[in-house]
Amino acid sequence: GAPALEILSVSKHFRGLKALDDISLSVAAAQIRGIVGPNGSGKTTLFNVISGFYKPTGGEVRIDGRPMTNARSYRLAQAGVARTFQNLRLFPAMTVRENVLVALDQTRTRSIWRYAIWQPGVWRHDRALRRQADTILERYGLTDFGDALPGALPYGIQRRVEIARAMAREPRLLLLDEPAAGLNGDEVRQLGEIVRSIRDSGVTVVLIEHNMGLVMSLCEHVTVLASGRIIADGTPDEVATAPQVIEAYLGD
Ligand code: ADP
Repeated sequence: GAPALEILSVSKHFRGLKALDDISLSVAAAQIRGIVGPNGSGKTTLFNVISGFYKPTGGEVRIDGRPMTNARSYRLAQAGVARTFQNLRLFPAMTVRENVLVALDQTRTRSIWRYAIWQPGVWRHDRALRRQADTILERYGLTDFGDALPGALPYGIQRRVEIARAMAREPRLLLLDEPAAGLNGDEVRQLGEIVRSIRDSGVTVVLIEHNMGLVMSLCEHVTVLASGRIIADGTPDEVATAPQVIEAYLGD
């Protein structure tokens, strides 16, 4: 079949700055791909192009073989793309369960009549939806935190809620932006297990990550960016020993 994700000669310029400069990469289905590189190398810009937040200056994006270059975020969500953010974007005044409920509610198809007739917030009391949310909470080890507000929880749990919320959309391609940032060693290990189980369920995972231990142990394949270009691409061992990678990091 087609790769889960293809980036073909993608560029993104901000005025004179080439944040992405003719990038091409391809991610096979149900793989974990790491995107690494020094600060300012274009990693987040790449995610923003893939998830429809930025229009690329040039090039093409394909999801499961389908052209998605200038698709809006909601179209990409329909095509099975979900992402998390470096700075968590949970709803602070909603419980963990409600954060997942919102994602579930946005995902399912509903008739226009339901929108017209039902009161806002009715999803909070929808039994089937709540059962679905509880299944997701259980899958991500969040059962004990369903009634808590995210802000009251350890950072590692909040990160897990954000992943659970993205997975509630049943994506085929999951983009994780620095999922290990701010986590302690135990939390990083738990994160690794969660990401592996997501991959094992058939979802393709692309992650931006600075934690090299996690990248090395988790990813089948790593792409290294520097100044908007790919400077190395291969297995974790291949890229870790590439002289141009070592040089790029020394300059960071
Ligand atoms: P990374 O995620 O690898 O740290 P980014 O993709 O955030 O790098 O940024 C790459 C370059 O693009 C940086 O020089 C950054 O300042 C620039 N950049 C990113 N987004 C914008 C924007 N919206 N407007 C102008 N410049 C931007």
